[in-house]
Amino acid sequence: MPPGEFELIARYFTGRGAARDDVKISVGDDAAVVTPRAGAELVLALDTIVAGVHFPADTGARFVGHRALAVNLSDLAAMGAEPAWALLGLTLPAADESWVSGFASGLDELARRFGVALIGGDTTRGPLCATVTVGGWVPAGRALTRSGAKAGDDLWVSGTPGDAGAGLAILQGKIAASGAAREELLRRFLLPEPRVGLGQALRGIASACIDVSDGLAGDLEKLCRASGVGARLDCARLPRSAPLLEAAGDAAAMRFALAAGDDYELLFSAPAAARQSVEALERIVPVRFIGSISAEPGVRLQGAGIERDLVHGFDHFDG
Ligand code: ADP
Ligand code: MG
Repeated sequence: MPPGEFELIARYFTGRGAARDDVKISVGDDAAVVTPRAGAELVLALDTIVAGVHFPADTGARFVGHRALAVNLSDLAAMGAEPAWALLGLTLPAADESWVSGFASGLDELARRFGVALIGGDTTRGPLCATVTVGGWVPAGRALTRSGAKAGDDLWVSGTPGDAGAGLAILQGKIAASGAAREELLRRFLLPEPRVGLGQALRGIASACIDVSDGLAGDLEKLCRASGVGARLDCARLPRSAPLLEAAGDAAAMRFALAAGDDYELLFSAPAAARQSVEALERIVPVRFIGSISAEPGVRLQGAGIERDLVHGFDHFDG
């Protein structure tokens, strides 16, 4: 007989993630109780991932568990917050124990790595979908936002955007790749790494920050709108990984880097005077200078044969 809701919770969602001193009451009561931190502000985020929408329906359970938490930790990273707790709303078509076990282990591994305790949630039956709420801390008044970019600021991105999009395209049979390049691009899609350390290190350095979930150019436009500025993005400076170039070729690699989602890299602006401080963040994760913030609204792509004004959004840019 498949396990019931309460058995699943007891077996797979109790004591998951890191043990934390600030958790007074966790899974098993009607709600969780945590202790506030003096001098800090609470940062909260929620993201839902739906099978067939945010990940292919046949994605391995461990990767789905990882993704459900990773996309939320990425939002905390973009705010410069230190993650602390997660709550999980899990909707399952059936009580498939091996699936739940894989899901829980993917979530647990990532949660431990970032000091996050799973302190509650809800388990229901329905189409496969996972909603996670995360909470974390930021020193009072020091959260990063989308809205602080100023004309003249530098524009930076972490990692190598486009890899995750190419990994998804491989899974969907849209592009082909083999060997190490294939493995790396699949890993980048299936196991996104939230830039939590970088986000916290950017407090006091970045003027604005956003995590790249919907594509770099589109997310840059969101940051610009929130800040009331525009940007020039120098495409020739966009870091593109060797596996991406190998699998997609030069032109498609540029499109993946600019427009594909799922990277969970940080895109941020910083005053030119902070250039050395930003370059020093290389010790955490590679960061690359890719353009600058301008007073006139809109995102302009320059270089690599691309010159297009994106005032009206990135949706129209394809090929
Ligand atoms: P209630 O009916 O009072 O909402 P539930 O039976 O739904 O309580 O949940 C019992 C306990 O298990 C609660 O502490 C709840 O937060 C926790 N819980 C339920 N589902 C999950 C889950 N998927 N992950 C983590 N905790 C869960
Ligand atoms: Mg409930």
